[in-house]
Amino acid sequence: MRIPAELHSGYTYFRNGRYVVEADRYRAVAAGQAPKTMIIACADSRVDPATIFAAAPGELFVVRNVAALVPPCETCESSGTYHGTSAALEFAVTQLKVEEIVVMGHGMCGGITAALQAAEHRPVGRFIGPWMEQIAGVRDDLIERTPGMFPEFRQKALERIAIQHSLGNLNSFPFVNEQVNRGKLRLHGAWFSISQGELHWLDQDTGVFETVSVGLPDRDQGLR
Ligand SMILES: [Zn+2]
Repeated sequence: MRIPAELHSGYTYFRNGRYVVEADRYRAVAAGQAPKTMIIACADSRVDPATIFAAAPGELFVVRNVAALVPPCETCESSGTYHGTSAALEFAVTQLKVEEIVVMGHGMCGGITAALQAAEHRPVGRFIGPWMEQIAGVRDDLIERTPGMFPEFRQKALERIAIQHSLGNLNSFPFVNEQVNRGKLRLHGAWFSISQGELHWLDQDTGVFETVSVGLPDRDQGLR
């Protein structure tokens, strides 16, 4: 099977453009990565963390899954064996010793839509259904608290609640909790509006997602 034309075209563009500019950086990080930040994001094609944060290779340790969820800390014995997100989290915190973890949800998230559809007993997929069930508790609580809420508002509310739920789950991992208590690790919640290209950051004291102001361009922005 040959490389699809669209991917080949993109790769050619990368090799002739960004790679030429960043070849030295690629060579340097080949010896080992030391990212300071882990981002847990949705698999959605429109919310690429490296694009949103204009990150260079080696700067962000990213794990993406459906709806950017962090599952609770479960041992293999208690529930299944394949914990991809938890494994990435363990590596980021215990080996890379990242200093920031950002859970980044987004608008119009299909995973969150599926969670809301499941509440109406609509089929959502053999694997997506059980994966999204981990927020069933907070979803049901939201639905109960907001009877008659417009679906788009409820969707947006659940997108944000899911981020806060994931932050709580992050703290259930002993190695995360330990680093947070030692002041070596900070946990953040963020939500990205696709239609506006706008990032909102969770104020964990108020529970409000505040729009992130955009600063002046850096001098080296042309390189990114
Ligand atoms: Zn999504």
